[in-house]
Amino acid sequence: MYISGQWIEAEGGKTFPVTNPANGQVIANIPDGNQDDARKAIQAAEDAFKGWSTLTAYERSSYLYKAWQIMMERKSKLAELMTTEQGKPLKASMGETQYGADFLLWYAEEAKRVYGEIIPAPRKDQRFMVLHEPVGVVAAVTPWNYPISMITRKVAPALAAGCTIVLKPAESTPLCAIEIFKILEEAGIPPGVVNLVTARDPKPIGDEFLTNPIVKKLAFTGSTGVGKFLAQGAAAQMKRISLELGGHAPFIVFDDADPVHAAKGASLVKFLNTGQACISPNRIFVHKNIIDPFVEELSARVSRMQAGSGFEKGVQIGPLIDAAALEKVQRQVTNAQELGATIISGGKRLTENDMDKGFFFAPTVIRDVTPEMLIYREETFGPVAPVIAFENEEEVLEMANDTNYGLASYVYTRDISRAMRMFESLRFGIVGINDINPTAAAAPFGGMKESGLGREGGREGIAEYLETKLGGFSI
Ligand code: ADP
Repeated sequence: MYISGQWIEAEGGKTFPVTNPANGQVIANIPDGNQDDARKAIQAAEDAFKGWSTLTAYERSSYLYKAWQIMMERKSKLAELMTTEQGKPLKASMGETQYGADFLLWYAEEAKRVYGEIIPAPRKDQRFMVLHEPVGVVAAVTPWNYPISMITRKVAPALAAGCTIVLKPAESTPLCAIEIFKILEEAGIPPGVVNLVTARDPKPIGDEFLTNPIVKKLAFTGSTGVGKFLAQGAAAQMKRISLELGGHAPFIVFDDADPVHAAKGASLVKFLNTGQACISPNRIFVHKNIIDPFVEELSARVSRMQAGSGFEKGVQIGPLIDAAALEKVQRQVTNAQELGATIISGGKRLTENDMDKGFFFAPTVIRDVTPEMLIYREETFGPVAPVIAFENEEEVLEMANDTNYGLASYVYTRDISRAMRMFESLRFGIVGINDINPTAAAAPFGGMKESGLGREGGREGIAEYLETKLGGFSI
């Protein structure tokens, strides 16, 4: 763990194993922190706050810029570690590492653009001035599916804004977090500004984050269940929160779109990270006139996908993160099948070529999915593409919006008026129109409804770490 600029063991001296999800092998043992460790880290962040927050924006920017440079030099090494620890194919790990680095560069730039405002005052002898200040000590909790970019997406804007931070990474991917913190250390960021607490059990750490009055803001990416629990806890001290939670993305293909092109897009975005993404399409709505060629192309592409270790050439499907993830996907597929869905390809666990040592599920396409099925409502987080037929725009819009989630959505159409109508009517924070990758460090990412609160990335991302202060001057 990294606290006050020191790499240290957990208070109790305990450790826990980290495993490779492709083969179940233990790859490292790391400190198993407890509530006392979290408290120590929060105090370190508090002690460092005054110094850090009073640096100039230019000074803070230069540390982030330096960290970005080191991260770019280390890109391949980081990607290899990510594939070992999390399982995604090496090419995808390279992509995520780049995306992660992008946040350091973007917020190195944004640090210098935290502008205030002069507002005309109603009285002649009065002046109004607005400025933005860092919220204070931030506690951050990140997930395992994007083990690097979810860290930099919080740490970079927090540091740019002048906050100090304590981070608890997911218990399955702490090694990626450790490497990122080594980069922050090498960039010369002063002791206590960034602190890392690793733990097998997140609960005591989370409890300290919620109850310690020093913590002024909680930034979380993870499941909606845990997000709600943290939001409730944070309310007791009215801590600021930003939450990036689950999704249930609709992927809508109208009959004016090319079904083959749309199926290619669906195959690329659905199976990205083996479906373990909050923006992964979970319900693929295809107009009934083109559903046959769409499914044909999708299943042809899916059948060609190779599963295995992310280090093997040509592998597109890595393992799921653990046994529970595998079980959830299997349960949804079995339930859909029992309720009348048709499995077009895949549909089962993969065990050949030693894949039984890991948690592999075959890339799957299912048709005839109906609203009674678990997969229609529950987030899947696995390589399963459920296809649903629709007849008209009004109907599909209603079905797409009929979810408590509101993160990403995708639409394929060539009709510009329809594209605009869908963009305006979908209740989702992100709408990809003929675009399967509507994300970038410069763009606000986040959800409506139970998909979360606040935005990460873009101009909005730094605002989450700032308070607004109004000065009224009588002259
Ligand atoms: P998933 O594992 O499905 O992505 P989780 O929400 O369980 O979703 O995990 C996301 C992150 O939240 C992980 O770092 C995990 O350790 C953490 N987490 C889970 N429960 C708590 C809790 N009670 N307090 C703080 N962090 C938690």
